[in-house]
Amino acid sequence: MRLLIVEDEKRLALALAQGLSAEGFAVDVVHDGAEGLLRATGTDYDLIILDIMLPGMNGYRVCSTVRAAGHETPILMLTAKDGEYDEAEGLDTGADDYLCKPFSYVVLLARIRALLRRRTRGGSRVLRIGDLVVDPATRQCLRGDHEVSLTAKEFAVLEHLAVRAGDVVSKADILQHVWDFAYDGDPNIVEVYISTLRRKIDAPFGCRTILTVRGAGYRLAADRG
Ligand code: CA
Repeated sequence: MRLLIVEDEKRLALALAQGLSAEGFAVDVVHDGAEGLLRATGTDYDLIILDIMLPGMNGYRVCSTVRAAGHETPILMLTAKDGEYDEAEGLDTGADDYLCKPFSYVVLLARIRALLRRRTRGGSRVLRIGDLVVDPATRQCLRGDHEVSLTAKEFAVLEHLAVRAGDVVSKADILQHVWDFAYDGDPNIVEVYISTLRRKIDAPFGCRTILTVRGAGYRLAADRG
């Protein structure tokens, strides 16, 4: 899952980015509204955290412009101002949720997960592919009754495939959703993660669920034996 943070308070933005990266999200940060708009409309984010008082362009305008351009990305607005008027205005411009500063990180994380769940296909919390269970809420992965221990990044790659189970997902798509724009390393990193995941969720159980679709990407599908 790839998130964009548009927040001009640099310390807050950095703290959020560090916390969310540790949860396994790919996080991009910009400190300016106009740049936020460019990013938000140019990259396929899973969620945007958008401050209201911003240099360049305020959050309301960024939000309404993103919506006018046809993007449905969930937007969580942050503001220092308290009051129902702001909330109404934020939601009017197309924001999905609203959080007033100062907020607790735990509450922010819960709101983010709730918005992402709403977006997940079918709205189901737990993803099941055959006897493989991927639970985005608890970051747990089970193969049958066995819990499989995954790093945050491994989980993020698996979750991205699991949300789109049955579909072919390109390496570029995985890279874009799981790594942030600061990543300028080898795109073959995706292959490394796929092979680690196969070693953890497939090989020990005699399964083949992460399939390579030559020239196109990967597909996660239940093992038909
Ligand atoms: Ca601000």
